[in-house]
Amino acid sequence: MPGTLGDHLGMTARVLDGQALATRMQEEIKPKVAEFVSKHGRPPGLGIVLVGDDPASDVYVRHKVKAGGEVGFRVDLERMPESATLADVLGLVERLNQSAAIDGILVQSPLPKAMGAGAQQNVFDTIAVDKDVDGFSAESVGLLSQNRPKLVACTPAGVIELLEREKIPIRGRHAVVIGRSDIVGKPMALLLLHRDATVTICHSRTPDLPAVCRQADILVAAVGRAGLVTKGYVKPGATVIDVGMNRVTDPTVASQLFPAGHPRLASFQAKGSVLVGDVHPEVTDVAGALTPVPGGVGPLTITMLMMNTLRAAQERVAR
Ligand code: NAP
Repeated sequence: MPGTLGDHLGMTARVLDGQALATRMQEEIKPKVAEFVSKHGRPPGLGIVLVGDDPASDVYVRHKVKAGGEVGFRVDLERMPESATLADVLGLVERLNQSAAIDGILVQSPLPKAMGAGAQQNVFDTIAVDKDVDGFSAESVGLLSQNRPKLVACTPAGVIELLEREKIPIRGRHAVVIGRSDIVGKPMALLLLHRDATVTICHSRTPDLPAVCRQADILVAAVGRAGLVTKGYVKPGATVIDVGMNRVTDPTVASQLFPAGHPRLASFQAKGSVLVGDVHPEVTDVAGALTPVPGGVGPLTITMLMMNTLRAAQERVAR
């Protein structure tokens, strides 16, 4: 059935196609970058710091470098070895803070464990607030909590962009966010609150999670548990946003998520793994609208990084 997820039992939920929106937004960014270049004689600049050789971080950073290049940014990838010290990383961030060519800075997490528990936040907090395109510094978070945001964390900002462009009302609605992390759950809740939703934040100690979630007009799952949100969590017609990205390698889990003969189960059997969200595919039978995984929130995260970098550049030259 066109316009729905179409591959489970009842097949009702409208698909919120994050991939299509991300592609549209990239096309919107390109002429703005061209205009910036013609006015200021240089492209917006993004500095990406990658420390060590974590393979997943390598992949994420490659995608960010590519996306930046595609919209016309200057992207400086600053690699540091696993043996780099916290002082080395802080020194590099300070240099990028001072750089006239760099408008946005991001430090890929995680940093090597040897740097110590507080290293990551210490590094985030050193990024100048005007260049903090990931929005993870204490200052960026503080400004967001006071509803005078500068640059906002990309994943929750992407969810808001999707809800607004899909004309899903937020004001006066009950939004339930499962997850209270600093990078997704908490900023997501604040963004919804500042758009006049009544917001409930749930976490691993929330009693009777399904009953709380069933109150939601907008349910956001940012947990990291494959298929946790089943039909019993969802009020009929609710909008369900699946932030989770979980790679399933266990055949038992895969067969709990997808019925026999389902194309994604066949793909799992061929490849030995499948990428799924926190929302069970059966939720398409009850939800009014639902983001798929992959192709929902994920592609918007990188696009919002591009939006943040463009905005940071425009605001710097306007000062
Ligand atoms: P996180 O830091 O591990 O936080 C997970 C949150 O879920 C915690 O608040 C935790 O509660 C809660 N939780 C865990 N198990 C639960 C349960 N059984 N019931 C209710 N709550 C539970 O994860 P994160 O960084 O926020 O990421 C969440 C998911 O989003 C992951 O799958 C991640 O890969 C994905 N993600 C996707 C994108 C994207 O671009 N699409 C970006 C970022 C993250 P406690 O606080 O009580 O421990």
